[in-house]
Amino acid sequence: MTDPREPKLSTFSYSLLETEAIEWALKQANPWGVDTLPKTGLSQQERDFSDTIENLKDRFKAFHLERQNDCCCYCAQWLMGRPIEQDREHIIPKGKNRELTFTISNLAVACKTCNMSVKGTKTSHLRGFRHGGLREPNDVLSPKNYNIPHPNIDDWTLHLSHTFEKTDMTVTASHYSTKSKKGRFSYYFFKLYELEIFANTEEQRRIKSTQSLHPKLVDLRDKFGQ
Ligand SMILES: [Zn+2]
Repeated sequence: MTDPREPKLSTFSYSLLETEAIEWALKQANPWGVDTLPKTGLSQQERDFSDTIENLKDRFKAFHLERQNDCCCYCAQWLMGRPIEQDREHIIPKGKNRELTFTISNLAVACKTCNMSVKGTKTSHLRGFRHGGLREPNDVLSPKNYNIPHPNIDDWTLHLSHTFEKTDMTVTASHYSTKSKKGRFSYYFFKLYELEIFANTEEQRRIKSTQSLHPKLVDLRDKFGQ
């Protein structure tokens, strides 16, 4: 796999205690939420594991925010200084593959809107998932498994671009351009059009008129060569 971001995923390592805590967590009903279990009823070792997972989740977040230059992995909106907006994101939902719950390459940081309001537990961003599994089940990190730019293996900037203008405290224009099929899928899947602001200028009207075609329309256009 290629890793387009810095620091590289390969530089993230788990301590022995973290590895043991993950093994324990994966046996619990809700592995990702073990750090919120009531402490009463847990043995001393389980409390240590629970604290370790809590710290590990903080490490994940800091690591991915650095890789993403403090931007949402899907819409690229800036998250600096907005901790409430920063969600740890499982690219393959943890409810669909619990073994990947603590796997660094399946994690990223998304804004609340992309993570909660739009993506939720949907799986249409995963190719072949409706038909029983990933298209390339033996290689979770194959780009062929994803309809969207994967935050850790695809270079977002090759699929989409985001430009905006800001005067003092107001964003006066915000626009996404799509550069690929994955970019177009993301544009509609994450409703990026809802984040666009077009100033009423000649240039902005021109940009608006060249907005992205829906992926289904692109497929039709390619099919019929128009
Ligand atoms: Zn977002």
